Amino acid sequence: MNASVEIPDSLRADLHDLYRHLHAHPELSSVEHDTHALIADRMTSLGYHCTPCGGTGLVATLVNDEGPVVAFRADIDGLPLPEDTGLDYASVARGTLPDGSDVPVMHACGHDTHITCAIGAATLLVADLDAWAGTVIFIFQPAEETAVGAQAMLDDGLWAKALPQGRPPEVVYSQHVWPGRAGTVDVTPGAAMAMADSWKVTVHGRGGHGSRPEGTIDPVVLTAYMIVRIQSIVSREIAAQSAAVITVATVKAGLKENIIPATAEFTVNVRNLDDDVRDSVLGSLRRVILAEAQASGAPEPTIEELYTFPLLVNDEDLTAEAIEVIGAEIGAASVGTVPPSMGSEDFGHLPQAINAPGVYWFFGGHPQELLDSGEPVPFNHSPFFAPVLEPTLSTGVRAAYVMLRHRLRRSA
Ligand SMILES: [Zn+2]
Ligand SMILES: [Zn+2]
Repeated sequence: MNASVEIPDSLRADLHDLYRHLHAHPELSSVEHDTHALIADRMTSLGYHCTPCGGTGLVATLVNDEGPVVAFRADIDGLPLPEDTGLDYASVARGTLPDGSDVPVMHACGHDTHITCAIGAATLLVADLDAWAGTVIFIFQPAEETAVGAQAMLDDGLWAKALPQGRPPEVVYSQHVWPGRAGTVDVTPGAAMAMADSWKVTVHGRGGHGSRPEGTIDPVVLTAYMIVRIQSIVSREIAAQSAAVITVATVKAGLKENIIPATAEFTVNVRNLDDDVRDSVLGSLRRVILAEAQASGAPEPTIEELYTFPLLVNDEDLTAEAIEVIGAEIGAASVGTVPPSMGSEDFGHLPQAINAPGVYWFFGGHPQELLDSGEPVPFNHSPFFAPVLEPTLSTGVRAAYVMLRHRLRRSA
C-alpha cells in the first residue's frame, strides 16, 4: 500500500461537518440514542452490517472475502459538563442523569473525534475493497465514562453478534484523543492505563443538637478522620516503586450548622497498575474505614462498590508493530512511547473477553502554538477541551486505517 493515505477533500470536508455536528450534539452515557442512530445510518449506507448491542452501542461488520478478522472500537458518550470553549459549534445540549438531575452535556473527552475517525477509516476501507480481504468489525461503544458500556456490549453478546461465523478477531484496536500535539501518536507498551475501583461509603453516626455533641456520634468528625487516614495508605503502606492513587472527591453531610447529622457519605477512587497493589490498597482502605468507625464507637459503615475499570494492557509485540506501521504513515518522529497513565478505560474488557490482544493509542489534539504558549493546556474533561480539527482528525483516520489495513492485507 501507499506510504501515505490519501483522504479525498470531499471526505475530509464531510468528516469535519460530521465532527462539528457530533460536538454540538453530545449525549450522556447510556442514552446516546441520536448518536447511535446517526452512526447506524452512516455505517449502513457504507455497506456495513449493523447490529445494535448493549443498549445504545452498535456493531458494524464488513465481510470482504476470506481473510483475517480485525476489530476497532470507538467510544461515543459525552460528559455532564458546561462547555466553555467559545467555539461556534460548542454544545448547549442538556441531558438527564440517572438521578433525574438536568445537566449540561459536552463532548469534553473527545469521543466525538473517535466516532468521526472510525467512520473516516470505515469509509476509506470501503473505497478500496479490491485491495484487501478479510473481515473488519467497528465497535461503537456507549457509556465509557461510567465504566459500564464495554461490559454491557459483552453481556449483550457482542462477539457473537459481530462474528456470525464465530471466528474471533486476531486483535482489537482503539484510540483516544489527548492533549498531545495534533499530528502525533503516542502509545504505551504493556500495562498502559490503570485499573480503578470506586466505592461509596456511608458513615453511620447518631444525630442530635449541635450544642450537645456528647449525646451524639458525629459522623462529620468521623468522616474527616477517615479521609485523613486514608491519605496515608499510599505514602506509608505502599512501596515507593509501586503505582497507587487514592482520591476522595465527594463528601456529603448535614443540612444545617447546628444539627449533627445521623450519617455522612463520601466516595473514594483507587487506581493501580497491578493486582497485588490493588488488593493491598483496597484491604487497607476497608481496614481504615472500619477501624475509624470502631474508634468512634460508631456502627459499621456501609461500603458500596460503585464500579471497576480493568487494567488496560497493550500487547508488546503488536504495540511495536503499531509504532512501525503508524510511523510509516505519519512519520516516525511523530510516533512516541509514553509511560503508563493512571487514567482508566473500559476498553480492556473487549479483547480480554475473547483472549485476543489489544492495542490502544493516543493521538494529539492541540496545536504546537498552544503547547508552546505557556498557557494552561486543557486536558480531557476540561470545559475548555477543544481539539483542533486538523491535523487531529486526519491523523486519527490515518492511524486507524493503516492499522486495520496492515492486518487485512491480502495474503495471496
Ligand atoms: Zn473521559
Ligand atoms: Zn474518553
